[in-house]
Amino acid sequence: MPVPFIDIKRFEPDFLPAWQAKVAEMSAQAQFVGGPEVARLEQRLAAATGVDHAISCGNGTDAIQLALRAVDVGPGDVVLLPNATFWATFEAVVNVGASPVTVDINPADGALDLDAFTQALNTHAPKAALVVHLYGWGSARLAELRQLCQARGVVLVEDGAQSFGVTYQEQSIYAGAAIATTSFYPAKVLGAAGDGGAVFTSHAGWAEKARQLGNHGRTSHYGYGLVGWNSRMDALQAAFVNLALDHFDARLASRREAAAYYRSKLPALGVSVMPAPADYNENGYCNVCVLPDPAQKAAVEAALKDAGIGFANIYPGAMSEQEGARGVLHAHVGGDCAQTLCASVLNLPLFAYITRAEQDEVMVVLQQAMAATPA
Ligand SMILES: *Cc1c(COP(=O)(O)O)cnc(C)c1O
Repeated sequence: MPVPFIDIKRFEPDFLPAWQAKVAEMSAQAQFVGGPEVARLEQRLAAATGVDHAISCGNGTDAIQLALRAVDVGPGDVVLLPNATFWATFEAVVNVGASPVTVDINPADGALDLDAFTQALNTHAPKAALVVHLYGWGSARLAELRQLCQARGVVLVEDGAQSFGVTYQEQSIYAGAAIATTSFYPAKVLGAAGDGGAVFTSHAGWAEKARQLGNHGRTSHYGYGLVGWNSRMDALQAAFVNLALDHFDARLASRREAAAYYRSKLPALGVSVMPAPADYNENGYCNVCVLPDPAQKAAVEAALKDAGIGFANIYPGAMSEQEGARGVLHAHVGGDCAQTLCASVLNLPLFAYITRAEQDEVMVVLQQAMAATPA
């Protein structure tokens, strides 16, 4: 039985009819930009995360750029970011005109290494820093990281593109952030029918600036207080995310259950799985198998491929090693744990409403491959 890495078509029975009715109604009203669906989504996002302001925007990359510019990061500023992340995090820093300094990660949780980060704070005098909540959780030392940045007057921007639904110390991970962002790319935990994103903050001034920047810096329809750009979320996307929110609890529960099932079974097959640190309730964005032996990893991947089982490597390369980083990377601080992690991660199928039978099938293939190629 083939199993896809991700299947975002497993809608609840009433979902597509509701969406089709919504599209028909909004099309008849020519309700395409702004309007009640966008306003309602922003209210619901703020309520769901416990932040005062949720500002919708065009995509998760723009959300990071809006957040950086809202906190006044621009040309000449240094911004620290983890060396293991999606390329958009790095791009956002460069796109706002700032200089990126990559910082090594801690292999235990995949997030910024606090010692290397402290060293980077001391040696590079950053204006801001980005922490990225990868894989469906965040840094084991997030509270310390937040406190450290606050004490140093460095704004910590939290890239939460993968962390919608994650709780940290019993509240939404976005709630404790100075400013955070997310993405509604369809494959994320809360996905749209296209691109979308949001900025979360309880700082009224930053919220206002992020909103203004994403709407051409407008102060009135034909008055412009800032040079921004157009990063408005479409009304149809907002409507889709509103419908997805109606089912979010069930989707989240399904993902968490699937992640826990892998976690309970994989160690017996000799596969180590990166756990969410204490203080977190993960959102099941992905599962993270760690296979440090390259030959074994290659053999396992070949076996999965032969059996028609989808898998991924999130992510295969560190930021500092990308061709696009040449000439723009300001510095790197710390060791090469990011590269080691990138080389050893294997992600198995995980999505809302994956079945037990599918997960069992994945693990049968994995077990045979592990037995045939011991490390
Ligand atoms: C998906 C993602 C982004 C970018 O979001 P888009 O909506 O695709 O622009 C940024 N950071 C991380 C960690 C992501 O996973």
